[in-house]
Amino acid sequence: MEKKQQSFSLWYFLIAFFFVLLLQNYLFTPRVANLTYSEFKELVRRGLVKEVVIEQEVIRGELKMENLEGVLPPKKVEEFGKMGEGDRRFFSVRVEDPGLIGDLEEAEVKFTGVRINTWFRTILSWVLPALIFVGIWVLLMRRFSAGSGLMAIGKSKAKVYVEKETGVTFADVAGVDEAKEEVQEIVELLKNPQRYGRLGGKNPKGVLLVGVPGTGKTLLARAIAGEAGVPFFSMSGSSFVEMFVGVGAARVRDLFAQAQASAPCIIFIDELDALGKARSAGPTLGGHDEREQTLNQLLTEMDGFDPRKGVIILAATNRPEILDPALLRAGRFDRHVLVDRPDINGREAILKVHAKGAKLASEVNLREIAAKTVGFVGADLANLVNEAALLAARRDKEAIDMKDFSEAIDRIVAGLEKKNRLLNPREREVVAYHEAGHALIATALPGADPVSKISIIPRGIAALGYTQQLPTEDRYLMLQSELETRISVLLGGRVAEEIIFEDVSTGAQNDLQRVSDIARRMVTDYGMSKELGLISYDNRSQHSFLPMVSPGVREYSEDTAQRIDQAVARIVAEAHDRVKQLLQERRGKLETLAKTLLDREVLEGKDLEEILRMSA
Ligand code: ADP
Ligand code: MG
Ligand code: ZN
Repeated sequence: MEKKQQSFSLWYFLIAFFFVLLLQNYLFTPRVANLTYSEFKELVRRGLVKEVVIEQEVIRGELKMENLEGVLPPKKVEEFGKMGEGDRRFFSVRVEDPGLIGDLEEAEVKFTGVRINTWFRTILSWVLPALIFVGIWVLLMRRFSAGSGLMAIGKSKAKVYVEKETGVTFADVAGVDEAKEEVQEIVELLKNPQRYGRLGGKNPKGVLLVGVPGTGKTLLARAIAGEAGVPFFSMSGSSFVEMFVGVGAARVRDLFAQAQASAPCIIFIDELDALGKARSAGPTLGGHDEREQTLNQLLTEMDGFDPRKGVIILAATNRPEILDPALLRAGRFDRHVLVDRPDINGREAILKVHAKGAKLASEVNLREIAAKTVGFVGADLANLVNEAALLAARRDKEAIDMKDFSEAIDRIVAGLEKKNRLLNPREREVVAYHEAGHALIATALPGADPVSKISIIPRGIAALGYTQQLPTEDRYLMLQSELETRISVLLGGRVAEEIIFEDVSTGAQNDLQRVSDIARRMVTDYGMSKELGLISYDNRSQHSFLPMVSPGVREYSEDTAQRIDQAVARIVAEAHDRVKQLLQERRGKLETLAKTLLDREVLEGKDLEEILRMSA
C-alpha cells in the first residue's frame, strides 16, 4: 500500500515538472516570428530592422512598423500581421557571419550582445537527473528499511515492542505449574522492588526460560508482566543482528535506556540463541563481528544496571547448550526456568484455556483428548482446538464434537511426526519399557538411590524419557557394591528392551557411556578389579593443569591397556547378566509398569511403589 503511494507521488512530480516546462515555452515566451537568416539579412539591408539582440545561437529583434509586403514571403507577413499592434518581434537562428556587424552598422540598427541566461537548461541538465536519482534513492531506502532498518541506524524505536499492559495473566498459561511457581518470585519483586533490595539481598537480574518451541515461553514472559502490571519491552534476538556492525549494539543500548526510564518493567529477549551463540574462540573470518559486538553490549548493559530499580531481563531459548557461557554467569542469566512439555494433566488444562472461546458439544471430554495428544506442546493444542473448530464450521455444526477433535488430532499428529517432533507409538513403547527397566532395577537392588520420577515425555532433544533417582543423603564415598548397582540400573533400560522386543534400540547410548565410564574408573582409579589390583592407572589427574599436553600418553604398557579393557568388559558383562536375570524374574512387573507409563506418562516415586506392590 505504502509503496504504491510513494511511486505515485514520484510520477505526479515528474508530470507536474513537464507541465511547468510546457507552460514556460508556450505561455510565457512572447510570440515571435521565425525568420530564416537570409530573410533577416534582407530586412537589414532594406533598413527595416529596428533593433537586434545577438545571442550565442539566435538573433532576436524587432522590425520597424513598415510594409513588409514583397520583402518576405506572404506567410511570414501574415504571421507578423497576426501579432498585436506594434509587435513585430522575430528571431532567427544565427549562422557564422563575420560581416553581420558591418551590415548592422551600415543599416544603423541598434544592436546588443547578450550572455544568454542558461538557468533553465542548467536545471534540465543537472538538477533534474539529480532529483530523479534522489527520488529513486529515497524509494529504495524506504523499501529497504521496511525489512531491515537500513535507515534506522541507531534509532531502534521501531524495533522495540512495548506493551504497557500485556493483558495476559497466569490463568492464560496452563500446564506449566512448576515454571509458574518459579517465576512467582519475579512477579513479587516487580510489584515491590524496594522491599526486596532493602535487606541487602541481591535481586535476580536475568531469568532464562528454557523449553522446546511452543511450550509457552513467550506467553509466560508476557504473563509475568501482566501479573505484575509492568510494561513489557520485547525484542527478538535475531532482530539485533543486523547488516551493519554496530547497529545491534546501538539497539541494545537503546532498549536498556528505554526500559530503565520506565522501571519497573520487563525486558524480554526472545530467541536468545540467535544473539548469544558461543563466541568463536579463534579469529573469525569476519561476519560474526556484529553478533559479538551486540552480545558484548548486552553483557555490559546487564552488568551495568541496578536490579533494585526493578528491571528484570527475561530471555527465552530452546537451545541453552549453545549459549555463550558468559551469558549464564552469576549476575546475568543465572536463573533457569524449565518450561517443560505438558503431561496429561497439563494438556487438559491447556485445552481448557483454549476451549473457552470455542463452542463445544456436551459430549466433548477434554481429558480424553489430552490422553490422545501425547507429546503435544501448548502451541499444538491451541492449534488443535482451532483446527477442530474449523472442521466443525465446515460441516455446519452447531458445536465442536469429539469427531472433529479426533480428525484434527490425526492431522496434527501426522504433521508433527513428519517434522520429527513426535514419537510414533512404537518408539513410545520402546521408551516406556526402557525407562521401566531402569526403575525396576533401581527398586530391586538394595542400596540404589530411590526413584523419584519416571517420565516418557521427551525432554530437550536428546532424552526421550528419563528415570530420576534422588540420593537420600550427600555422599562422599562410594562402595564398590554401590558402583556396581549404579551400573546395573543404567543397564536396566537396555536389558528391558532385549527381553521384551528381542532387539535393541539406539536409546541406550548415554546409559552405556556412563556405564563404561564408571567401570573404567573402577579398574583404573579405584583399584576395584581383581585383574589389575591396587594400582592407579589414571594419568588424567597428573596432567590436569596442562590438559592439552600429549593427550594420548599412557604410563602403562600395551599389555596393561588390554588387561584394563578386559577388566572393564568383565565388570559390565557381569552386571548385564545380573540385570537380565533380575528383569526376567520380574517380567510381569516390567510389563505392568511399562503399560502404566504409556498410559500416564509420568509416575512419581510413590505411584511406582504402589504399582509394584499391586503387581506382585
Ligand atoms: P514459545 O515462545 O515457547 O515458542 P509461545 O509462548 O509463543 O511458545 O506459544 C505459542 C502459543 O501457543 C501461545 O500464544 C498460546 O496460544 C499457546 N500456548 C503455548 N503454551 C501454552 C500454555 N502453557 N498454556 C496455554 N497456551 C499455550
Ligand atoms: Mg516464543
Ligand atoms: Zn536409559
